[in-house]
Amino acid sequence: MILFDFEYEPARSLPEASALLSRLGEGARAMGGGTDLLPKMRIAITRPTAIVGLSGIEPEPPSVTAEGGLRIDGLTTLAALARAPLVTTNLPMLAESARVVGSDQVREMGTLAGNLCQDTRCLELNQKHDYQFKAKCFKRGGECCYPFPNNRPGRCWSVYMSDIAPALIALNAEIETVHAAGGRRLAVAEMFSGQGIDPISLEPAELISAVITPPLPANFGWGYHKSSRRGGFEYAIAVIAVTLTLDASRQACTDARIVIGAIREKPVRVHEAERVLVGQTIDDALFAETVNAAVGEARPLRHHGFSRSYLIDNLRIYLRRVLIRAVERARGHASTT
Ligand SMILES: Cc1cc2nc3c(=O)[nH]c(=O)nc-3n(C[C@H](O)[C@H](O)[C@H](O)COP(=O)(O)OP(=O)(O)OC[C@H]3O[C@@H](n4cnc5c(N)ncnc54)[C@H](O)[C@@H]3O)c2cc1C
Ligand code: SF4
Repeated sequence: MILFDFEYEPARSLPEASALLSRLGEGARAMGGGTDLLPKMRIAITRPTAIVGLSGIEPEPPSVTAEGGLRIDGLTTLAALARAPLVTTNLPMLAESARVVGSDQVREMGTLAGNLCQDTRCLELNQKHDYQFKAKCFKRGGECCYPFPNNRPGRCWSVYMSDIAPALIALNAEIETVHAAGGRRLAVAEMFSGQGIDPISLEPAELISAVITPPLPANFGWGYHKSSRRGGFEYAIAVIAVTLTLDASRQACTDARIVIGAIREKPVRVHEAERVLVGQTIDDALFAETVNAAVGEARPLRHHGFSRSYLIDNLRIYLRRVLIRAVERARGHASTT
């Protein structure tokens, strides 16, 4: 049950939604499927004064861009994303990242844009606070942080849990936005502030209309892994997304993007590990060196009951497997799906 009043304004288009958000002011929020927003309202982490509903706007089906990449409407549900033939054929990594989100119900309601704009999470925050005598933490407007009491005062260390954002950053995707002041295109990697209190750095009333991916090069391979306590219906322990390209002989790596999600306030691209991999001939020693560099660089925050050392062990094991799988795919030795 939600124990406060708010206005509800259904929008018929994204420009109309953006105009409504501007008119309704600071307390207004857009709502796609509501699967992230409504649970937060229910436990009063967020108290919007007005909701602008996007669910009445019909998303465009995915299409091929003039450059040969894909354009996917931001209002596409995760279920539709996971089964769209253009996506499963051209970007199986993106389809897989949508398939592993939550449960059937979450994927049927939740949208791509909502997934990217979901709030960060923390065990202290995402639970019922009907025991309001407990002091509010920084993210709830208070003056403490329970899991990290001695870290920087005022700073929130909650973790961004999207399963899809790491895949999109590894694919070098961009978002397209709608805003009264004019929309823009920016890299998915650029839409995060890196701050737990306010993790998404879009402007007020700026809405995601689409995700655009570039065309894929020859000898391209990908690997993706989400670790979670159970196989389904569970947020991640960690997410690993890798894309790489091999040279014509398929022995050396010419380009790589390695992204680790669900370990910090935003997805972490491990540039140093990418530099270790690129330009070198692929062998076991190179995988080990890349994994060492990635683990050193990722600096996971302990979260949801997982210690830092557990997360580091997890990354060591799964990043090596994901790299091997990506190389196999680039060599045509593994199914592309
Ligand atoms: C039980 C459960 C399990 C879950 N498991 C996972 C999981 O395993 N992995 C995972 O990644 N997520 C998970 N989620 C989180 C989330 O619900 C989904 O990721 C979903 O995709 C969010 O989309 P939505 O449309 O419902 O977002 P909403 O709840 O509608 O919105 C989320 C945020 O995005 C903003 N927003 C919505 N649409 C737009 C837009 N077009 N432009 C700009 N901002 C927008 C809203 O204002 C809000 O701040 C889970 C949620 C639940 C309830
Ligand atoms: S990490 Fe953030 S959400 Fe969690 S208790 Fe600290 S301030 Fe609050």
